[in-house]
Amino acid sequence: MFSVPPTIAASLPRFEPGWVWLVGAGPGDPGLLSLHALNGLQQADVVVYDALVDNRILEAAKPGAEMVYAGKRGGKPSPKQADISQRLVELAKSGHRVLRLKGGDPFVFGRGGEEALALVAAGIPFRLVPGITAGIGGLAYAGIPATHRDVNAAVTFVTGHQAGGDVPRGLDWTALAKGSPVLVIYMAVQNLPAIVDKLLEAGRPATEPVAIISKASTPEQQVLETTLGTCIADCAKAAPPPPAMVVVGRVVQLRASLDWIGALAGRALLPDPFAAETPDGRQRLA
Ligand code: SAH
Repeated sequence: MFSVPPTIAASLPRFEPGWVWLVGAGPGDPGLLSLHALNGLQQADVVVYDALVDNRILEAAKPGAEMVYAGKRGGKPSPKQADISQRLVELAKSGHRVLRLKGGDPFVFGRGGEEALALVAAGIPFRLVPGITAGIGGLAYAGIPATHRDVNAAVTFVTGHQAGGDVPRGLDWTALAKGSPVLVIYMAVQNLPAIVDKLLEAGRPATEPVAIISKASTPEQQVLETTLGTCIADCAKAAPPPPAMVVVGRVVQLRASLDWIGALAGRALLPDPFAAETPDGRQRLA
């Protein structure tokens, strides 16, 4: 269907035996893979992959490549991080080309740093291939700009979940609520009530728009449009299937105008919701 132009193909590296490539697979849609990721997949001897990686991407691996599952499935405990890192080291030491494939970006809430540090400690050469993180790609597929001049000059990626399952304690939610007009919260659904409480307590209005994006960029993508005041009940009712993320901020309002996937299915897109607020000549935010 398409071929990689020779100038680009020639720029892509060879996967040397004994190396580990830490690769981001993007949020789901195989078309969001990078050429580096595809190039690595087609050369790897072993692919160690996570739960969030789409089967259509795994099928792009070289025929005969060993596929090793290293994620959590069916509520079973996930393999320990140290065991995964150790496995990567052993596979590389025995001369394999090892591709560690992760959902989104390896360095965004993906423990890619931990695995890379283990490789460095063991003297294993590695390459890092960034992927499109859910907080960027997922928003794009929901028709929600991460930044918009009329709304926000900053956006914050937050995890709603720390090891053990609680809302991360080290985070100053009041500062986040006051300082970041848009919050993109990964792993937030389980702790949504606690997070919403903290944001409301810190003064975010109950009317503020919220989107809950589930299975972004996959054929099963669902987006729940709600508000800070109603999202707990709406989320409990809709029970969005994982993985899902929560976006808090007025950029969510733009979805009514920019839901390009909805438009493909016939949704009528509305005019710019902020046009009245920013008549020509008035200064925009950034
Ligand atoms: N490294 C990944 C994030 C891993 S943490 C990245 O960069 O995207 C897992 C969390 O990411 C999920 O709980 C969810 O909040 C979010 N996530 C990952 N893929 C997603 C998708 N396709 N749709 C919605 N959220 C997603």
